[in-house]
Amino acid sequence: MTRIPVLANAPADPTNYGDRYATDIYGRPVNNALLVVLHETVGSASSAVNTMQATHPNEDDQVSYHSIIKRDGTVIYVVAPEKRAFGAGNSVFNGANGPEAVKTHKDFPPSVNNFAYHISLESPPDGDDSAQTHSGYTSQQYQSLAWLVAWTNVPADRITTHREVDRSGSRIDPRSFDTQQLIAQLQNYWRDTAQQ
Ligand SMILES: [Zn+2]
Repeated sequence: MTRIPVLANAPADPTNYGDRYATDIYGRPVNNALLVVLHETVGSASSAVNTMQATHPNEDDQVSYHSIIKRDGTVIYVVAPEKRAFGAGNSVFNGANGPEAVKTHKDFPPSVNNFAYHISLESPPDGDDSAQTHSGYTSQQYQSLAWLVAWTNVPADRITTHREVDRSGSRIDPRSFDTQQLIAQLQNYWRDTAQQ
């Protein structure tokens, strides 16, 4: 059984995202396939939206996800999928064909942002701290996440987490994430697609 989530729009301020580049800063063409990167908000979804809707002239403060999934399963679109959201600053994806990252800025390390679709799950109230774990995500969140991931058409081996791709040593999100629950939900969509 699959269902379409409630959808909402909360566009980010343009300082918090950019265009996807066709070449890296050395002029080499880049053509990485899309990668889904999962995060959590730590604070509330509305607090994350406020941050992304604020103007951030300082590059160090610029941050965004493409979408946020609230506790009730509502999907909030923040940055258009064709744009480059600033979700994982210093990051590398270890793909089937080796490490993937693109350097797009002379002052910042390479990252997966150029080919990432960043999705952030609203953390539970007991996750509003720096503990290693919390009570996890709602079944509505897993259902909406599966719907959204299915929509991206990204295969299972290109779904990853901020924790996995982070190279700063400081990111552990999404904490208490149940990969099996996502895969179980995704089976419904993959089965529907196979039957079409
Ligand atoms: Zn993150």
